[in-house]
Amino acid sequence: MIEHLISLRPMACYKMKLFFISLYFILLQTSCNSKSKEILSVLDTNTKTEVKTKIEKSNIPKDTLNITSDFVLGKFNYQSDSTFVKVDSRYSAKEIYLNYTVYKAFLEMSQKAKKDSIDFKIISGTRNFYEQKAIWNRKWNLYSNLNPIDRAKKILEYSSMPSTSRHHWGTDIDLNSLNNSYFNTGKGLKTYQWLQSHANSFGFYQVYTNKNNGRTGYNEEKWHWSFVPLASKYLEFYNSNIKTEDISEFEGSHLAKDLRIIEDYVNGIPNEVKRYK
Ligand SMILES: [Zn+2]
Repeated sequence: MIEHLISLRPMACYKMKLFFISLYFILLQTSCNSKSKEILSVLDTNTKTEVKTKIEKSNIPKDTLNITSDFVLGKFNYQSDSTFVKVDSRYSAKEIYLNYTVYKAFLEMSQKAKKDSIDFKIISGTRNFYEQKAIWNRKWNLYSNLNPIDRAKKILEYSSMPSTSRHHWGTDIDLNSLNNSYFNTGKGLKTYQWLQSHANSFGFYQVYTNKNNGRTGYNEEKWHWSFVPLASKYLEFYNSNIKTEDISEFEGSHLAKDLRIIEDYVNGIPNEVKRYK
């Protein structure tokens, strides 16, 4: 009897889940203002069935984006920003927020990838100035044996100075693993090859490629993908409005000028991404 009950449980749970998903969908259709919600169909990685995900349509950025200096410098609270949404736990390793448009593009890309047996887990999404400063400070203390310039350069191999990270904008994601070696064999290689073939068509580009063609700045990061249709607008604003003096309020910030942070790091991206229109 116990065995019988146990064998019935998964089906009962599944039916119950389906019931709630259906109920949820019906309620959403009938009770919500259709202008403020959008339902996106995604594949449930556990049950291999299609489920609906809700995202706030009201968060779609307007055609004329209201970009500010504080925003591109990461000095804002994305949790309370109406253009940001929380990533579903199915696709994230922790609590992660992204710009609405970016998340929508990511879900569409995931749906296509799933059909090719590729799964994405977002390890990092939006980080504001204060979160980037915590990363910077931890590494600054770690490399205290080095002279100031080498100390900063060591951190800058893979981490940005606060106020210079593309992660501030909600447009950039780190996928699956923070080790390049993961993407060199097996499942990781398959995932990377899939991204190389398909990500651009969803707006995502690897911005920290190898440096063979003279790209400056951060080392290669096979995990870091940027939604360029939006990020290119933020970079354009950044280059027109931000000066090195705006990069401040953390240890070592006075080195930003000598290290050509804006020229070589913020703009240290492939030419095809620079030219994106
Ligand atoms: Zn990253």
